[in-house]
Amino acid sequence: MPGFEIFGEDERREVQDVLETGVLFRYGFEQARNGHFKALTFEKNLGKYIGAEYCHLCSSGTAALSIALASCGIGAGDEVVVPPFTFVATIEAVLNAGAVPVFTEIDETLCIDPDGIENVLSPRTKAVLPVHMCGAMARIDEIKSFCDRKGLALIEDACQSLGSTFNGKGLGTFGRMGCFSFDYVKTITCGEGGAVVTDDKELYLLADQYSDHGHDHIGSDRGLEGHPILGANYRISELNAAIGVAQLGKLDSILGTQRRNKTILKEAMSGFSDISFRTLPDEAGDSATFLSFFLPKEEKARNVLEALGRAGVDGCFYWYANNWHYYRQWEHLKKMTAAARLPAEILEHCPDYDKIELPRSDQIMKRTISMLIKLSWSDEQIQERVEKIQDVLKG
Ligand SMILES: *Cc1c(COP(=O)(O)O)cnc(C)c1O
Repeated sequence: MPGFEIFGEDERREVQDVLETGVLFRYGFEQARNGHFKALTFEKNLGKYIGAEYCHLCSSGTAALSIALASCGIGAGDEVVVPPFTFVATIEAVLNAGAVPVFTEIDETLCIDPDGIENVLSPRTKAVLPVHMCGAMARIDEIKSFCDRKGLALIEDACQSLGSTFNGKGLGTFGRMGCFSFDYVKTITCGEGGAVVTDDKELYLLADQYSDHGHDHIGSDRGLEGHPILGANYRISELNAAIGVAQLGKLDSILGTQRRNKTILKEAMSGFSDISFRTLPDEAGDSATFLSFFLPKEEKARNVLEALGRAGVDGCFYWYANNWHYYRQWEHLKKMTAAARLPAEILEHCPDYDKIELPRSDQIMKRTISMLIKLSWSDEQIQERVEKIQDVLKG
């Protein structure tokens, strides 16, 4: 799955370009940078790859979420519909915007169930933030038409699903804005990095300005630039962007390897009546970073997980008990413990996160195991895995 598995000569060459000029900043220094614009190049290539009109790089996926929320005008007291199964960064970004995360149930896509969103709407709901988990898509067309019907902003967290598509259209391009991460364990990595994409020029300009203290980036003299808005610093450095340029060039081959490896494992498991697979609204668009499957009952899932571990099948995740990805384990959220004091607007309107119940999501997550698909497996290693998995499932 992760880009770090194939870090090599191309990455070093791109970084070397930057080191030779010494220009580590993405803006200005036109004379000294010797024609190297790594952030700009990565943005252009990435936007094209995803199929978005505009793309802006930033320092992380978490930053991308904050930028998207700010650009879409989501702030104090606004409610944002989120799934309980995500990386906790999604929730942090909403709270740090001064907005209120409101949980809704997932379905067997492991993403937000479009049919459940209506139940959690209030007059304060401003946005829906689905997360395309584990490399594949939510029922994003239905979520989009729901948002359009209700006049809600759709922001996609596609941090785990770069290169994944639904009916040929890139994830991240269905909503007003899409967010990506290039941290060290994502499909491709910059070390640290992120991006927002959009087809809306105005949103793009806001994102560009917000990530750099409101600078309008008109002209090359920073001292003379205008500042239409207040912002923050979510800039990416040229060094990180340089790695991204090289990694993006490998994305097609990464996806090809993942899909091939995943197909072998999936076929090897499909004869077992106890196993059913995650629903994929468009299987061809799956980026295949994970193989996720369900057992009929929680106890069975826990037993299979343990047996896989004993058999030496590594990279298996039981998200239900994982303290980074499922709301049940988020102690800090339940206690609303934040380093900085949370604004009154949030505290006043937040549900009691310790008491919320999401029975359908629990039922799904209790039965779910995800297997990481690696790029570096040899044919022998895959065959060995197949045999071990089949032994466990027979037992
Ligand atoms: C990784 C991730 C993020 C955050 O990305 P960072 O680059 O680590 O800040 C946000 N959402 C999801 C779903 C993620 O997996």
